[in-house]
Amino acid sequence: MPVLWPYLLPTQAPARLLVAAVDSGSRVDQSDSLVVASFAASHHYRALARLLKACAGLLRQGSGLPKSAFRVAVNSDLPEKKLAVLGGLGFIGRSSLLVSRRFGPACLIGLLVLPAELLSPGGLSPEMLASGGATSGETGLADQLLAELTPGAGCGACRACQAACPTQAIGDHGYQRPRCLQHWSGRQGCPADIAAQRGSRLYGCDACIVACPYSAGRSPEEALAAEARLLPVERRSGRLVSADWLAGAAPEEVKAFFRGTALGFSWLPTAWLQDQARRFLERKVGARPAGGY
Ligand code: SF4
Ligand code: SF4
Repeated sequence: MPVLWPYLLPTQAPARLLVAAVDSGSRVDQSDSLVVASFAASHHYRALARLLKACAGLLRQGSGLPKSAFRVAVNSDLPEKKLAVLGGLGFIGRSSLLVSRRFGPACLIGLLVLPAELLSPGGLSPEMLASGGATSGETGLADQLLAELTPGAGCGACRACQAACPTQAIGDHGYQRPRCLQHWSGRQGCPADIAAQRGSRLYGCDACIVACPYSAGRSPEEALAAEARLLPVERRSGRLVSADWLAGAAPEEVKAFFRGTALGFSWLPTAWLQDQARRFLERKVGARPAGGY
């Protein structure tokens, strides 16, 4: 039975990313900037996959096992947050995000699937993994896991993300995906009251991540060290993008600019990104330009 090894890559504090974005050569004009959420301003997904592949390579060398025995999963359909909880990395917060003990929700999750041959004799048996890591005599551990997997159960009285959410997507009854700005990234049909809260966000929203006290408690040095591991090509597109440029550029130019970044995924259409810029400019001037775009 393969073993999943959850791994976290911390993302930087937004304030620091703002500086990094200016240095990254992105299309920045402070007067009309659109903002990319901190988790997507650099291509952390790609970096995480690269780092996990390097880990797999080292384990291959040490074990002599074939490359096909290892699998890397980042931003996948696997239940990454639950697996990270089972791996002891944190709990599911009221925001529905993984609140990791080291970085709060300011991190991405990646998985390295290891071959059964690497299971240590003292590791969890397949039966224990199936029961959430608890043996018959360890119901306390099962209770703890249940609490960590229940959204908000580990948050105590904190409701900082709920208060910070601009669209009331985090309510007393949990996270409501249809009200989340991130859910509407790349999608048409966003309800008007939610779209009105987009502000200068181009892609993503990290208000609930920034508000979480566990994010504030993380070590900035560790986040900076993780950022230092990014290749130059993984530092794009940067935190800020000029709305004027994005609204008026040819689609091919926009596609080329975001290619190889976290905004270059096929499910995030160029037309949608340009539409966000145009709507932002409309809101800024208070009316649609006479000639349209
Ligand atoms: S990402 Fe933004 S809109 Fe979505 S729950 Fe968090 S704060 Fe609310
Ligand atoms: S901000 Fe507070 S309530 Fe929200 S996930 Fe973090 S600890 Fe939980």
